[in-house]
Amino acid sequence: MVPSSRLSEHDTILRYYRSLLARYGPQNWWPAQSRFEVVVGAYLTQNTNWSNVEKAMANLRRGRALSLSAMRDLKLSRLQQLIRPSGYFRQKALRLKTFIRYLDTRYSGSLDRLFSQPTAQLRAELLALNGVGPETADSILLYAGNHPVFVVDAYTRRILERHGVVSPKTSYEEIRALIEQAITSAAPELLRVPQRGIDPRHPASRMSRMARHELAQHYNELHALIVRAGNSFCRSAPQCEGCPLKDFLPQSSRATTGVAAPSYLQHP
Ligand code: SF4
Repeated sequence: MVPSSRLSEHDTILRYYRSLLARYGPQNWWPAQSRFEVVVGAYLTQNTNWSNVEKAMANLRRGRALSLSAMRDLKLSRLQQLIRPSGYFRQKALRLKTFIRYLDTRYSGSLDRLFSQPTAQLRAELLALNGVGPETADSILLYAGNHPVFVVDAYTRRILERHGVVSPKTSYEEIRALIEQAITSAAPELLRVPQRGIDPRHPASRMSRMARHELAQHYNELHALIVRAGNSFCRSAPQCEGCPLKDFLPQSSRATTGVAAPSYLQHP
């Protein structure tokens, strides 16, 4: 039996999801034309913002290096030069080459074979690669491989901490389990995703339109919506006014975030 405190946390997560969906609609993540492009983006987005990734991706596209075969043949120094706008470019170039070597050695260079492995096994293999932490592994699994895993990024942690749902000590895996359980235990009628975006972050792309496992589609949307709200409002200095999650901010957090409690939460 699920403890009652967990049930209310699940309910909270679902309310956030529904509010974000109502405000923004589907976000068309991941903005990419191929699974390999998603993998590259998942590496490049480490420790930088998406606009820097877009610049590096544009360089790779112009340099005709955004395919597995082209990147395999590319000299390391050239790869470093192309992805320089994403920061930590020497490290990231080495990590991309390591991924390609792993794919070639273990799966004969086939993304189909790679992604047909069981989720837990593949996740463990990815996490064993140099420079792959849980967020990168889960981004690759979810957005490139259509595996149902939720991606916990810095905005997810920040929002849940500021709202008192998790503490700074809560681990990545605990947050992932909390969100996955909230979605898997929800009644289907609570999880309706509109077909078209109200305010999408990106234009639709080949990868964003890809047919997905239903659970993977919810994890896709929820992660993208959290990034959207986090990037727009939940920065280091929170801008709660106008944030779609403002009404969920507990009273105890309102003083630190500068938000007045809504009337129904104010004491007479
Ligand atoms: S900006 Fe404020 S209301 Fe919005 S998620 Fe962050 S803490 Fe919550």
